[in-house]
Amino acid sequence: MSHEKIETLIVGGGQAGLAMSEHLGKRGLPHLVVERARIAERWRSERWDSLVANGPAWHDRFASKAFDHIDAEGFAPASMIVNYLEEHAREIKAPVRCAVEVTSLRRKGDGFLADTSAGLIEARNVVAATGAFQRPVIPDIVPNSFGIPQIHTAHYRNPGQLPEGGVLVIGAGSSGVQIADELCAAGRRVYLSVGPHDRPPRRYRGRDFVWWLGVLGLWNAKAAAPGAEHITIAVSGVNGGRTIDFRRLAGSGVTLVGMAQAFAGGAMRFAPDLAANIAAGDRNYLSMLDAADAYVEKEGLDLPAEPQAREMAPDPECVTHPLLKLDLAEARIGSIVWATGYALDFGWLNVDAFDSKGRPIHDLGVSPTPGLYFLGLAWLSRRASPFIWGVWHDAEHLAGVIAKRG
Ligand SMILES: Cc1cc2nc3c(=O)[nH]c(=O)nc-3n(C[C@H](O)[C@H](O)[C@H](O)COP(=O)(O)OP(=O)(O)OC[C@H]3O[C@@H](n4cnc5c(N)ncnc54)[C@H](O)[C@@H]3O)c2cc1C
Repeated sequence: MSHEKIETLIVGGGQAGLAMSEHLGKRGLPHLVVERARIAERWRSERWDSLVANGPAWHDRFASKAFDHIDAEGFAPASMIVNYLEEHAREIKAPVRCAVEVTSLRRKGDGFLADTSAGLIEARNVVAATGAFQRPVIPDIVPNSFGIPQIHTAHYRNPGQLPEGGVLVIGAGSSGVQIADELCAAGRRVYLSVGPHDRPPRRYRGRDFVWWLGVLGLWNAKAAAPGAEHITIAVSGVNGGRTIDFRRLAGSGVTLVGMAQAFAGGAMRFAPDLAANIAAGDRNYLSMLDAADAYVEKEGLDLPAEPQAREMAPDPECVTHPLLKLDLAEARIGSIVWATGYALDFGWLNVDAFDSKGRPIHDLGVSPTPGLYFLGLAWLSRRASPFIWGVWHDAEHLAGVIAKRG
């Protein structure tokens, strides 16, 4: 079995691993990236076919590299993001070794020993860059024995993949709303279970939402607002980018329902919270407009007023008279798509670096275990941390810390 030594081992060849490689490379620090599959694997095989970036190309990118072949205001398709990251790896000559999985990593002396599918690797420093969205989570609500096909959004590709019949989509963050919209446009009968969410304006007064997050200082927020930790965000860059509007979705045929609560006798029960969730989403939307207006006023900017952005259609029938129970057979539901998010999975990291809930302990990515670093986690340093442009800056910071350790 091979046994090699490297100063810094980066585990994961997604955007986080590549950003880390770029910054270590710039400092001339020896390192190796190991990736269990291919560069940017999640963007290749764990995203649906029609997915485009949630932010425009001028924003959803590394600070060091622009997208070619797309308008700066356009939203890059997932395949373009794969090409972009592969090209970046080539340009920076990233030492990436694909098809090498770290199966376990443990402490050895003042460094680490990684057991990989291709032998042992010893490293003084290790950067865990395996993503914030690792293990698809499906709540234990509908037993497999019921027999209806159930998939997570990580395994959804396109409407044709689902068996005939209606679809119950559970979860109305960016993934759930985009998939529900796509299924409805493909002629499927769709029920969409809507929980607490934020739904910011895609554009307001001529500027994209991500621009507003920047000038309002919200990308730099250090943590989710208290009580808002479990609120999902619904945005989309599909069709040039449109604000998520649940009334429009209902108008195009999607039946909105409240949070999925329990399943018995072949029927799903929904909480009576739909109207409240829609109203809270509206308040979030309007609060962004208010904050943007206040900023324009304070800075004396010349951005066109957009009063029509505050107009809302009346609540649709499915919101005013919500369905609280859906018999799946009666409604001819052929499948369930769970848009219920992801959990972390650091099963390979056999180092005392986690709290009692299994969350990595770190300060801006620096673990209390000397030489161990995390990158790409949600809220690692701020709101921007798990996203393409944010992770690049976090990697720059970690490279500085690693350089000092040597
Ligand atoms: C549906 C969806 C849409 C998103 N859209 C956007 C967007 O538009 N813009 C944006 O900025 N962000 C977006 N994100 C968030 C984030 O940018 C992506 O999740 C991105 O893939 C994270 O990159 P990463 O490098 O941190 O992790 P990952 O892309 O998850 O990369 C980690 C890599 O580690 C590898 N790996 C895991 N375990 C091991 C191991 N033990 N040994 C070796 N290799 C291992 C995996 O194969 C993977 O390639 C989206 C997320 C989701 C889920």
